Parts: sequence; structure tokens; C-alpha cells
Amino acid sequence: MTLPSASDGIAFIDGAYVPIAEARIPILDRGFVRSDATYDVAHVWNGRFFRLRDHIARFNASMRGLRMTLPLDEAQIGHILTECVSRSGLRDAYVQMTCTRGVPPKGTRDPRLCENRFYAFAQPFVWLANEEQRDRGLSMIISDIRRIPAESIDPRIKNFHWLDLTMGIFEAYDRGATVVVLSDADGNVTEGPGFNIFIIKDGALATPDQGVFEGMTRRCVLELSRELGIPCDLRTVTAAQVRDADEVFITSTAGGIMPVTTIDARPVSNASVGGITMQLRDLYWARHRTTWLGEPIVYRTEP
Ligand code: PLP
Repeated sequence: MTLPSASDGIAFIDGAYVPIAEARIPILDRGFVRSDATYDVAHVWNGRFFRLRDHIARFNASMRGLRMTLPLDEAQIGHILTECVSRSGLRDAYVQMTCTRGVPPKGTRDPRLCENRFYAFAQPFVWLANEEQRDRGLSMIISDIRRIPAESIDPRIKNFHWLDLTMGIFEAYDRGATVVVLSDADGNVTEGPGFNIFIIKDGALATPDQGVFEGMTRRCVLELSRELGIPCDLRTVTAAQVRDADEVFITSTAGGIMPVTTIDARPVSNASVGGITMQLRDLYWARHRTTWLGEPIVYRTEP
């Protein structure tokens, strides 16, 4: 039987499954007071987990990068995540797994002494942009705010150091745009809050190869473009190249492949969604209607 508020989401915390609104973390967990945490977000579409094993593998790599360990193997993590979804009854869901450093023993601040903690939740699918924005294209700004340098925090480790990105969101809204992309110290674009960026010039794709989180949707685009015979370069991408691109799109678990049709209030080409972007986006979603890279969920209560 599912809980009354299950469709708002189910969390796993302290070994129990609870309605998401009731999940609480200890206030002294360094995940909260020091952003000392890593996480990963997978999605469920049409009752199937998308690339679940790849997400868990990436989560484990992030934990290794932060010198965290959990007494859970990949199968156990997969089981917990599947239970969260199954108990929620959600057919389309946003599913997060988090590992925090944990609570330091009283009177210490030594991260080695903490017992790392695992939290997870499934909630209704979250879209980074609304339907109209996804159809017509997003308006983006390129901010002067620098992305935290890769030498300080390895961006391939999914982390909670989001204040540069969050202040970028404020700047985007102040400037009448919907999304923001940050640059590095050399003026190359990196990524935005929750997404990677691709440009298309003369029929070829390019996406930054450094200073970015290696998104799962980015990986899908690399695979799909190979399948379609569209060349794709992983290289530095300058702000000028973004402004001069024929097409621009962003990629995220929270929305897939989403076109960008204005940059800094200027249209990208003729401000309509470009052909290659459409081809990739349509293929991404068409594949989601099949069993592509999916793992079916057995629901406790069939909706
Ligand atoms: N870059 C950052 C900083 C992110 O936080 C995310 C996802 O949350 C992405 C890129 C896109 O990754 P994915 O396609 O796995 O959602």
C-alpha cells in the first residue's frame, strides 16, 4: 500500500522510507553546514529508470573523489532508489541519491572521524524549463561570474558548491533571461545551474571538455550524435563562439535537450529552434518511449 502523500515523493533516511515532507537531516551533518556532500540525480520516465547503473557508477566515483565510503554496494543503492520510486507510485520522477560527510564526533572537526551518511528521495519529475520555453527556446545570458575553478573543486564530482551558479540565476532574471552559463578565467564557457551547453556551427557540435560536470544527458548527446553521423568536438568553447553559433542547446536530466534561441538578448541565428537541435531532442524523447537504457520498476501498487 502506498502512503497517502506518497505521490509528493518518498525519501529514504536512517534506514526507513518516509513521505518526503517528513524527511529530516541532523543539523550538524557537514553536508548541511559545510556543503560537504556529493549526490547524483537520475530520472524515471514511463515507469522505467533511465541509465540507473551509469548514475550509480558516477555517484560512486564522486564519493571516491571526496574520500567518502558507504556500506552499500551498487545493487543495494539501486534497490533503495527503486523502492523510493515504487512506494511513491510515480511514473515520471526525479530521483536523488546523496552522500554526506556526516556528523563529526562531539568536540572534533576531523572529517576522517565522520560516518558518511546516505540519503535518497524520489519526487515528481522536475523540468528545468517550462513547456513553452522548451518549445520556443530559452533565453540565456553569459555571465561574468567565474565558475569555481576546477583546481579548487573538481567539477566532475557532483557537489553542493552552487553559489556561483545561484548568483548567476539572479543575474539572468535581472537581465530578463531564463538561464545563465558561467565562464572560466580564460573566457571559455563552462556550464550553468544543472546543465551542460552545446553549440552547433556549420553542422558540427561542440561542448566544453574542461571545467564541467560530465552530465548524463551530455553523454547521451555524444552517443546519439555519433549514431546520427553528426560530428561532435569536445574542446574549449569561447563566449564569442557561443554568440556566433548557428544553434545552441543545453542538456540536463531535468528536461533533456533544450534549445536556446537568444544569448545576451540577441537572437541565435534567426531565433527559431535549429534543425540539428530538433533532431537530437526528438530522438532523445522518442527513445524514451522505448526501453532505451531503461530498467523497469515493479510498482507496489499499480496506478
Ligand atoms: N552541470 C551541473 C553543474 C549540474 O549540476 C548538472 C546536473 O545537475 C549538469 C551539468 C547536467 O548533468 P545531467 O545531464 O547528468 O543532469
